[in-house]
Amino acid sequence: MGEIKSSYKRPSKYSQFSEEKKIASRLCNKKWREKHRTHVQNYMRKYKQSEKWLTYRKQYNKLWWQENSEKDKIRHRKWYEGIKCSWNAERRITFRKSREMLFHVLGQHTCVKCGFYDKRALQFDHINGGGTKEHKTTFLNRRIMFYVYYVLHPELAQRTLQVLCANCNMIKRMEKREDTII
Ligand SMILES: [Zn+2]
Repeated sequence: MGEIKSSYKRPSKYSQFSEEKKIASRLCNKKWREKHRTHVQNYMRKYKQSEKWLTYRKQYNKLWWQENSEKDKIRHRKWYEGIKCSWNAERRITFRKSREMLFHVLGQHTCVKCGFYDKRALQFDHINGGGTKEHKTTFLNRRIMFYVYYVLHPELAQRTLQVLCANCNMIKRMEKREDTII
């Protein structure tokens, strides 16, 4: 980052000082600044609005970005990959839990028509149809409709939903030409 430097230059004598004298002068400076704090604050406030400072800052940021953007991207990618797994795992767990909740709310753990019991292939069906329309118009997606809205409104769920297996749901859809499939 050697190209840009602040326009401030130390007095030429400073470089000839011994280490002890440098430390002493730094201390002296610090004391002076503490004594005249309001003056320094006002000065810095004005200086930071000046064009000199702003152009310096802009160039500095640009150079910094050129030197560090790659590192920054790699760091971000690492962070994202680390957190992505945990996000997905959490989502899967909440999805399973809320699915179980809806089964519990309806009181049906098997297909209503044929008695199929493997939950991996069981689906929730709107008895009178219109599920697709409902989730498209009033909800963001199906999962929110089923696993948030109907879990929070169990009476409504018991009136409008039933559990069907994938086969029975497809057959019902073909017979009635519905678009209600999860
Ligand atoms: Zn069935």
